[in-house]
Amino acid sequence: MARYTGPACRLCRREGVKLFLKGERCHSETCAITKRGTEPPGSYKQGRRVRRPSDYAIRLREKQKIRRIYGVLEKQFRRYFGRANRMKGVTGTNLLQLLELRLDNIVYRLGFAPSRRAARQLVKHRHFSIDDRITDIPSYQVSPGQIIQVREKSKDLEIIHNSLRNIGDNILPWLNLEKAKLQGKIINVPTREEIPIEAQEQFVVEYYSR
Ligand code: SF4
Repeated sequence: MARYTGPACRLCRREGVKLFLKGERCHSETCAITKRGTEPPGSYKQGRRVRRPSDYAIRLREKQKIRRIYGVLEKQFRRYFGRANRMKGVTGTNLLQLLELRLDNIVYRLGFAPSRRAARQLVKHRHFSIDDRITDIPSYQVSPGQIIQVREKSKDLEIIHNSLRNIGDNILPWLNLEKAKLQGKIINVPTREEIPIEAQEQFVVEYYSR
């Protein structure tokens, strides 16, 4: 499937916030947002009329922001929304939960990869198994209790060990990581409060319901 392969930092500048798409660099002084501020790419401060964004534009940007954080294409994102809408509960929260339970996101959250992009690559290159079965589908929905493990042949990968070193003990409370075994699992489906994403998912619901 076609995927955005342009500069990741441009996406952050477009949304005006850090989307943390590049791992370690996002926390350093070389981050484009830190260096150049939140001005969108291609805009010029001098002489530019600052217009108040329309309600539609605000909702569109929020949708794009969440979609880009998780690295999901429009068509797939819309499918997630449809699924979230059919589930019981709050649609916006359901949407974030579905996105959080993607295998690439879980690999990132467990600290096996410095970014979701890197996690997606590692999954595609068959470095992980789930309950002892090799899984190379980044969008695979992981269920609570399933064991995600780095495969034997991949246990010496530097990228995984560097990433684990950087994450330290900062694992989300709904995840369990056994560093020595290079394996982890989801304890429970996260509540909205347990998902550290600064976004207004209700705007996404409003965007698709317009
Ligand atoms: Fe975004 Fe990371 Fe680039 Fe900063 S370094 S602009 S957070 S992708």
